[in-house]
Amino acid sequence: RAKSLGKSRYEVFATGMLKEAVERLQLESDIRQGIEAEEFLLYYQPIICLKTGRIAGFEALVRWQHHERGFMPPGLFIPLAEETGLIQPLGEWIFQQACHQAAQWQQQFPNYAALQMSINLSSSQFGQSNLIPILEQALKQAGLNGEAIKIEITESMVMGDVEAAIDLMLQIKSLGMKLSIDDFGTGYSSLSYLHRFPLDTLKVDRSFVSRMDESHEDSAIVQTIIALGQNMGMNIVAEGIEQDSQVQMLKALNCEYGQGYLFAKPLSSEAATDLLNQHPQW
Ligand code: C2E
Ligand code: MG
Ligand code: MG
Ligand code: MG
Repeated sequence: RAKSLGKSRYEVFATGMLKEAVERLQLESDIRQGIEAEEFLLYYQPIICLKTGRIAGFEALVRWQHHERGFMPPGLFIPLAEETGLIQPLGEWIFQQACHQAAQWQQQFPNYAALQMSINLSSSQFGQSNLIPILEQALKQAGLNGEAIKIEITESMVMGDVEAAIDLMLQIKSLGMKLSIDDFGTGYSSLSYLHRFPLDTLKVDRSFVSRMDESHEDSAIVQTIIALGQNMGMNIVAEGIEQDSQVQMLKALNCEYGQGYLFAKPLSSEAATDLLNQHPQW
């Protein structure tokens, strides 16, 4: 009796594992086909200058219009794309698409000449040997100047082999592109290395910003991060702003830029273009 119970449990377990493995394989092959079938698309979330209330740039955020599952956020496929190496072809497409969109907006909106397009890089892309030629090619194809692009990296990506990371960051900078450190405060940065990185922008993680008005500790952390970044000559972007009270506090802390649902959610290319046409000022 115990034996048969054990066996059936084992079968349930094995079936569950098998199901999961099959689903992963399916998803992996779907990503491959999705790239071919152009099921991926970029959304764009505005980054606002808190002083002027004007749009300073956009962050490109990938979405997947899956033929069966429908609209999928990156949290559901980026980790698998990373593990399987599929992030490399997908990432290449993301660079091309984001550069193309940036070039198009530059032509269409001369009064937004300094608009910057931020593009997320994942860790396996950061280690990819042909990253620099791929970035260079994406700029060239779009006829775009490097200054229009800002590459977002995270703390964990640069804290392993620090010298190699600095070298790669300098190569990205040599294309004219800007560099941003994303989700700052959630990783394990060594502050002693931070000043050696050629970073232009520091993005304060949403988790601190969202708790600013409830917790004195969190607002103190935000204040400290802003001061740290500014002392190192970086621009600061506060992520995940959802309330006006947060904007007021951030302005008082001299934070220059903000991003969050309060201003706009990530938008389709068409909706973001409409927004630029309206010249919004928050
Ligand atoms: P991230 O780079 O930190 O992007 C910001 C995320 O916060 C986005 O989620 C955005 O929609 C969300 N967000 C912005 N404002 C608010 C707010 O006010 N409230 C809340 N609750 N959320 C807000 P999304 O688009 O789901 O992307 C999640 C993560 O997936 C990104 O975090 C990034 O790490 C990754 N990712 C997205 N697109 C790409 C891509 O093109 N390439 C790579 N490698 N990673 C990407
Ligand atoms: Mg980002
Ligand atoms: Mg972020
Ligand atoms: Mg974040």
